[in-house]
Amino acid sequence: MNAVLSYYENQLDNLWAMISAPSWSNFFWLFLALSAFVWTLELMRPWRKGQAVLRKDFWLDTWYMFFNVFLFGAAGFYGISSLVKSHLSSVFPYLNAFHATLSQLSPWLLLVIIFVVRDFIQWNIHRLLHASDFLWQFHKVHHSVEQMGYAAHLRYHFAENIIYGVLEYIPLALLGFDLIDFMAAGVFATAVGHLNHANFYLPLGPLQYIFNSPQMHIWHHAKQLPEGVKSVNYGLTLSVWDWLFGTSYMPHDGRDIELGFDNVESYPTGFFSQMLAPFKKRG
Ligand SMILES: [Zn+2]
Ligand SMILES: [Zn+2]
Repeated sequence: MNAVLSYYENQLDNLWAMISAPSWSNFFWLFLALSAFVWTLELMRPWRKGQAVLRKDFWLDTWYMFFNVFLFGAAGFYGISSLVKSHLSSVFPYLNAFHATLSQLSPWLLLVIIFVVRDFIQWNIHRLLHASDFLWQFHKVHHSVEQMGYAAHLRYHFAENIIYGVLEYIPLALLGFDLIDFMAAGVFATAVGHLNHANFYLPLGPLQYIFNSPQMHIWHHAKQLPEGVKSVNYGLTLSVWDWLFGTSYMPHDGRDIELGFDNVESYPTGFFSQMLAPFKKRG
């Protein structure tokens, strides 16, 4: 318990250190700038013109963003990465040699490799969140979004931080990647994730077969899909996996489709009630 407390104290100190020293190399301010940029795109050229600027659940999602990224999330895993890495390297000594080989590659190539491998792992985890009834109860929080905007990107149950963290970190660490290595890839993924949820029209042309987009991801949130189709477009940053494995679906741009799931109207609407929802008995 003490270890957890001191870890969190440390986390809060780190957060405060970032907030109090604005700079481009600091994730807090970089994240804020990215969010402001995507929000500006939404404000200047909204795709759904009738949607209010402060759409349904705007503040709820803003809180989720802060909570999942800075209080309980991505940033937390960077803290423990070196610890896990040193344990893994003592269990699997080949990792040191493998990592040494990787570090010979050009940093850009390494970044691209890490990014693609990680995105494929995340695509599989996302499929699992939909395939397993148990995990779906947690993932439902993300799908409870009824009006889409960039901040909806980070509305998700904190358990997803753990599920993704464990399931993606272990294979990546076994491959010899260091979490710090994909910090930069993470910034790019954050930007694309914001865009995918933004109220913004972004036709990608042929690039749609590589990258996800708001017009593709909105179908992932569709309330209604053709008979027998459970879900589609699982891609996070890249769309290529959905095209390759036959899970892509984009009959039209989907601007005005209904979002959510059956009975989304009766799903809890507050942060705490949504955190507790997966643990409630299903009726
Ligand atoms: Zn999903
Ligand atoms: Zn989404």
